[in-house]
Amino acid sequence: MATVEVRDLHKHFDAGRVRAVDGVDVATSDGEYLVLLGPSGCGKTTLLRTIAGLEEPSSGDVVIDGQVVTGLPPRARRIAMVFQSYALYPHKSVLANIVFPLRAAGVPHGDREQKARRAAGMLGIEHLLGRKPRQLSGGERQRVALARALVRDPSVFLLDEPLSNLDAKLRTSARDELKRFQQDIRATTVYVTHDQSEAMGLGDRIAVMSQGRVRQIGRPVEVYDDPADTFVATFIGSPPMNLVPRGDVLVGFRPEHLLPVENVPGERVTVTLEVQRMEYLSGDRHVYGTVDLGAGPTRVIARLPATVDTPLAAGERHGFAVPVRRLRFFDEDSGLRTDPVPVRT
Ligand code: ATP
Repeated sequence: MATVEVRDLHKHFDAGRVRAVDGVDVATSDGEYLVLLGPSGCGKTTLLRTIAGLEEPSSGDVVIDGQVVTGLPPRARRIAMVFQSYALYPHKSVLANIVFPLRAAGVPHGDREQKARRAAGMLGIEHLLGRKPRQLSGGERQRVALARALVRDPSVFLLDEPLSNLDAKLRTSARDELKRFQQDIRATTVYVTHDQSEAMGLGDRIAVMSQGRVRQIGRPVEVYDDPADTFVATFIGSPPMNLVPRGDVLVGFRPEHLLPVENVPGERVTVTLEVQRMEYLSGDRHVYGTVDLGAGPTRVIARLPATVDTPLAAGERHGFAVPVRRLRFFDEDSGLRTDPVPVRT
């Protein structure tokens, strides 16, 4: 097992015009599953490729298991990567695909097949060893790619959107498999995705990235409940956190915490919601409307579970409330978390 660390890492392209990675410090613990999450172009893949040694950093260091490996080639890093496109050899059998890196590494013939069979066994694909990649489902191909990475006994797995080729249903089951697989082998894993539900489901911790920087790193519950800034607050959560101006502060609250007032016991902030429209999504009611905390009407979304059957109609005004302990406050200019301010109740 191992740890992965990057120290003040920068990776610039085009003579510094593109700052793909712009000063990142991240360290995993041993056996940790760290997810790099962020929108397209935020630098996740570049960061992962730099950890792998496929890109040279412009400055800063990559440290694997306490050793500075900056400048070492990928094969000297005891890492395995699985990319978005699995790049299996189409004319080779599954077994030959899994064995391939061992052949390249000069592992003796007898050992190769034994290791390949063991990896295939862990991933439940022994019965597929004689097939060609085109005779497999997307999820099975993904497992072959993982088995091929696993045979090299890596101490670190680097995975770049390995599920993105799968349909929604397969993604869910493949995600579950991936999590169980990682729990079995406990290899330190860095996993890149732009899909927040994947990040929330898989990660021990999530590093939320934007514009080459890590905005926040924390457990899924931390980045969800205690976002460090408005970027994290609105990138995580679907629908995103509501942000309502009050003076020079933005008051944030999650859609599921804005409910008809009679459903909110205890210390609360009440608002009048002007209902504009409603959507029904997997049993929940999403209510779109506006509230005003003194700076004019602001669009918000309330998410009501099926257990809340208050009649609501477009065009109506209705009393809603948010528990005070659910309110988060952000500086309007910097977007950073700030101290609570009194909100009219
Ligand atoms: P996606 O989710 O779309 O894959 P990402 O977060 O992985 O995005 P990167 O691929 O790391 O983002 O790219 C980060 C930024 O660096 C982007 O603006 C991209 O255009 C730029 N970039 C990446 N590779 C190069 C390169 N070889 N030359 C110039 N610019 C690059």
